[in-house]
Amino acid sequence: MRQARRGGVFLDRDGTIGVAPPPGEFVTRWEEFRFLPGAIDALARLKAAGLALALVTNQSCIARGLASVAEVEAVHEAVQRALRRAGAAFDRIYFSPSLDPEDPDRKPRPGMIERGLAELGLDRRRCVMVGDSARDVEAGRAAGVATVLVTGETYAHEMERARAAGSDATFLTLADAVDWIIERTAGRVENGA
Ligand SMILES: [Mg+2]
Repeated sequence: MRQARRGGVFLDRDGTIGVAPPPGEFVTRWEEFRFLPGAIDALARLKAAGLALALVTNQSCIARGLASVAEVEAVHEAVQRALRRAGAAFDRIYFSPSLDPEDPDRKPRPGMIERGLAELGLDRRRCVMVGDSARDVEAGRAAGVATVLVTGETYAHEMERARAAGSDATFLTLADAVDWIIERTAGRVENGA
């Protein structure tokens, strides 16, 4: 009998699991990082449902000379330590240091999601990309996964573009999206499919 491949959730960082910095500013140190309310619990619920978790984040602060690769990795190591205590750690963390819109990894291009699909052996029909901006939705669509827009505090200025990008569902926060994601990623592979 053929084993159904696993589903997964790709998540943006700032504005999705962590508080987004003001426009033009960047979170480059763990001391500046704050999880959004309910985000850790939401990740733990997704993981408990058997879903792989991958962070996919644009970190152009590196290309801008505002942080080093090591500094961004240190933030992510601290994020992982905090999540591990809650049984909610990411299976993979991908970041794009680039500012180049042609860079295949920089969202809205789907390179990071494609790598996650391959490295984690996921079924893209059972995967969801969650983010708070139009480029997250565009990256998910380009990778052929379902998309969830979380509006949060960016609602006012991103909503119009994000709507135009056409997410499959829209919620205020990641926590509000968990039930939808679990349903959407539930096994749909029939015998012999
Ligand atoms: Mg974001």
